[in-house]
Amino acid sequence: MEHSRLVKWVSMTLGECEIACRRNCSCTAYANLDIRKGGSGCLLWFGELMDLKVIAENQDLYIRIPSSLLTGPTVPQPDFNSKIQVLTIVLPILAFLICLSVAVYVFRMKKKRSYMKARGRRATNNFSIDNKLGEGGFGPVYKGVLETGQEIAVKQLSRTSEQGYDEFYNEVVCVAKLQHRNLVKLLGYCMDEDERILIYEYLSNKSLDLLLFDETKSTELDWPQRFCIINGIARGMLYLHQDSRLRIIHRDLKAANILLDHDMNPKISDFGIAREFEGNQITAKTKKVVGTYGYISPEYALHGRFSVKSDVFSFGVLVLEIVSGKKNREFSHEDLNDNLLGHAWRLYTEGKYLELMSPSLHNSCIISEVKRSIHVGLLCVQNHAQDRPTMSSVVMMLGGDGSLPPPKQPAFFAEEGSRKHCTFSDVDEATITLLDPR
Ligand code: ATP
Repeated sequence: MEHSRLVKWVSMTLGECEIACRRNCSCTAYANLDIRKGGSGCLLWFGELMDLKVIAENQDLYIRIPSSLLTGPTVPQPDFNSKIQVLTIVLPILAFLICLSVAVYVFRMKKKRSYMKARGRRATNNFSIDNKLGEGGFGPVYKGVLETGQEIAVKQLSRTSEQGYDEFYNEVVCVAKLQHRNLVKLLGYCMDEDERILIYEYLSNKSLDLLLFDETKSTELDWPQRFCIINGIARGMLYLHQDSRLRIIHRDLKAANILLDHDMNPKISDFGIAREFEGNQITAKTKKVVGTYGYISPEYALHGRFSVKSDVFSFGVLVLEIVSGKKNREFSHEDLNDNLLGHAWRLYTEGKYLELMSPSLHNSCIISEVKRSIHVGLLCVQNHAQDRPTMSSVVMMLGGDGSLPPPKQPAFFAEEGSRKHCTFSDVDEATITLLDPR
């Protein structure tokens, strides 16, 4: 190791002294030799600083220190090569972990699906014909019982179903997001390859159409039950239109889509073609009109325009069907060629609209409620959508006893001698896909 030493140069300036010190890596400091008269000469220290003393005059001592001390402490920077090394180790591990999680997820989903499928099969006795409850556009519906003893209804999408996979997804998404005592409850679903299954709560009294339009069974449906059903459907529709998180237009409200539990509480079902309205959206238009003859509003059938008011129209038809026990689509007055709406309207204008009521209700009916129901039904089936009440007004009108506005002429009403009327048969069937009621 080199010894410390001090070198003096009398003739050097301070600048030359600095250069001399910088050139020698052992030089640790430099200073002027003589500080009088502005300073001259050069003092160079090599190794340790020695022979120093504090003097009264100012004298600068220039000390060499490592540049790292001047810039302050720095974070050690890994070099580029070591970064690449780290990446080549981390990336494969990361990719492996991602693949593993995807595989676990897919495996779990498959297991869940096959569990739901197996559960559906077990519960329905392998979709036995003895368990079949009925069949709609979607496919057959079977009754089943879970291990817990809970009764379920299992809908199996038939491979030849006109109502396709879009409707399956629509149903799942809609019903899963909605919960109301007057809407059917979806308990689960299964999608496995081309198999689609929906599992609902089982409603022991099945669908309203099976009771209402059956000559014998309809006699079991007394007026208090019918009025409860009307009110329950109205509350369910109000929830769909206004009170739920989403605004849903059902688009296929009909007697076959009203299920009844063991206490005859109605539950609206079948959301396969329901549509969600966003924000302040009021109406929508479609080229593909889907619905059921007899329940579809004129503006929807003729122009593809649907809104909450097209649902209100279907509700009105349903109310008149519940009171009369007659199917709108099939009803035809012997002399006047009226459909049910025309018939109700004619009786209303003649002041004898109680004649619309099913004869089986004579013993159980409450006249004021029957009248109110027919009146509200007629308000709902008015020809112009803007004249029809909203579901919140319907609920209030059904529950109140105040006077009601007079209804205007219903849609699809054939006035005698008039050529300017529109009937269901005038609707261009080539442009629309309507489902025929059973
Ligand atoms: P479409 O689907 O063509 O409009 P639909 O509504 O009658 O016709 P589905 O909803 O598939 O057809 O029902 C077929 C039948 O199965 C119904 O009429 C009803 O009797 C029975 N059903 C459906 N769901 C249930 C349920 N949750 N509980 C009890 N029975 C049911």
